[in-house]
Amino acid sequence: MQKKKILVTGGAGFIGSHLCERLLKEGNEVISLDNYFTGSKDNVIHLLDNPYFELIRHDVSNPFFIEIDEIYNLACPASPIHYQHDAIQTVKTSVMGAINMLGLAKRVNAKVLQASTSEVYGDPFVHPQVESYWGNVNPIGIRSCYDEGKRCAETLFMDYHRQNKVKIKIIRIFNTYGPNMNPNDGRVVSNFIVQALKNENITIFGDGTQTRSFQYVDDLVEGMVRMMATDDSFTGPVNIGNVHEFTMLELANQIIDIIGSKSKIVFNPLPSDDPKQRKPNINLAKEKLGWEPKVQLREGLVKTIQYFEKII
Ligand code: NAD
Ligand code: UDP
Repeated sequence: MQKKKILVTGGAGFIGSHLCERLLKEGNEVISLDNYFTGSKDNVIHLLDNPYFELIRHDVSNPFFIEIDEIYNLACPASPIHYQHDAIQTVKTSVMGAINMLGLAKRVNAKVLQASTSEVYGDPFVHPQVESYWGNVNPIGIRSCYDEGKRCAETLFMDYHRQNKVKIKIIRIFNTYGPNMNPNDGRVVSNFIVQALKNENITIFGDGTQTRSFQYVDDLVEGMVRMMATDDSFTGPVNIGNVHEFTMLELANQIIDIIGSKSKIVFNPLPSDDPKQRKPNINLAKEKLGWEPKVQLREGLVKTIQYFEKII
């Protein structure tokens, strides 16, 4: 098999680091492009012995040129506290990052995959969410820099495909967790695990009845690689997520139970525009990718907890 040269933007982040590892294992040459805003070299340090792996420090909102076969565009902070820290930069990362990666793909005739998000559905009225649903997104709220940035990136991907015949793939990723999440990431799974391991209060935002469907990172990476391998005529968007839906209260109790933690649950104010429910319909992924998630929540949490036990 011929070695492919693959660019992974956001390669030092949580998901990007797992993806780089997988692509290297398959015998590819992998270049990670990252500005280390939320990612870390620690996530990929174990890959640096591999001569076919390279790390480049670069901000995707600036153009970048390289000869490449495939691009996975993951660069973008994903946790609300981080993407809201510099909201304008978040929009630039999504929008300028998409333009730069699509321009690069066009120039070198590469295939490019966009890591979009279930956030494009906003606070959804259609449940579970199907790809044909256009969503319910506030364009001017505190989550908009992320949600609308990602929606605009999808628009750009489709327009480069229609106008310039760029080979594109769009996946909409639902809440994903696993090893290599930053302990200060701020998303719910890492927050609850870190709090439970330290026997500190578990901070539920709102009354804890809001739902999410949590996917283990290995399942996502499998879906990403399968999506990239689909026929050029298939662009997506395709939902990639686990269909088992949990309330935040159920999540907190499961984590307390697995760890045997003495933590108490406390209730903090719910941030504005926080979606009330989220669960993917994955029929399209099943049909087009022959994919469905294999790791269920408890098993994935155990593996993630083992990781956090080691690092904190
Ligand atoms: P993460 O924050 O761990 O990783 C993002 C990476 O992008 C980091 O390494 C960060 O340093 C890098 N980055 C940020 N801005 C950049 C810029 N301007 N230039 C170059 N690099 C930049 O988050 P993650 O969970 O690994 O998410 C990866 C991608 O998947 C993101 O695009 C995110 O929107 C998408 N996604 C993730 C989830 C999830 O639940 N984890 C859900 C939906 C979508
Ligand atoms: N959340 C929570 N406590 C925390 C962090 C998050 O209750 O310490 C809630 C948050 O309000 C949301 C859900 O958990 O309802 C998932 O939040 P996360 O930021 O992980 O993902 P997103 O909201 O982007 O799906």
